[in-house]
Amino acid sequence: MIVDTPVSLKRAQTLLADVRACTRCAGHLPLGPHPVLQVHPAARILIAGQAPGSRVHATGVPFDYPSGDRLRDWMGIDKTIFYDATRIAILPMGFCFPGTGKSGDLPPRSECAPAWRDILLAIMPNIGLTLVIGQYAQAWHLKGKAKATLTETTLAWRDYGQTMIPLPHPSPRNNIWLKRNPWFNEELLPTLRKRVSAVLA
Ligand code: SF4
Repeated sequence: MIVDTPVSLKRAQTLLADVRACTRCAGHLPLGPHPVLQVHPAARILIAGQAPGSRVHATGVPFDYPSGDRLRDWMGIDKTIFYDATRIAILPMGFCFPGTGKSGDLPPRSECAPAWRDILLAIMPNIGLTLVIGQYAQAWHLKGKAKATLTETTLAWRDYGQTMIPLPHPSPRNNIWLKRNPWFNEELLPTLRKRVSAVLA
């Protein structure tokens, strides 16, 4: 059932303003706070990702780069739908760019999810499908049911019911993973597209 929530819209706007003013872990952010997220009480699909990279930090537009093109292709939707907050919510595990380490971007800041995630999820009662991208989102959203590795969790996607689909990050860095795991394209993606289409219908 779709819940009509005019009160939640006001609540969402207030919460978004609070998040945008957040400086909770500012001392650890090399480029400073710049939360990047997309929320609306009417949203039907949640994209639970990792954390913005430096490009997204600069533009403020989530997934506006080749990874985003691949994610949209996986979902079978275009940018118009993807950036429509009344349909798609985008909540990374850390809202601000965490900096870069020896092997790529650092993990999402651990302060962020406990501070914001539950209260933001609570104002989106219409989410019918969550795409759980990467190990940090899987650890949070699959609530102790994630397997030992991201590959094992994603391979076990049928175990997580109709409303959760674990995914690897759509980054070109995962091209080798995608080649090694042909079941992802052959079995998981057709189901993902069908569920996205059904939830947005
Ligand atoms: S990462 Fe999260 S907790 Fe840290 S400053 Fe940004 S919004 Fe606040």
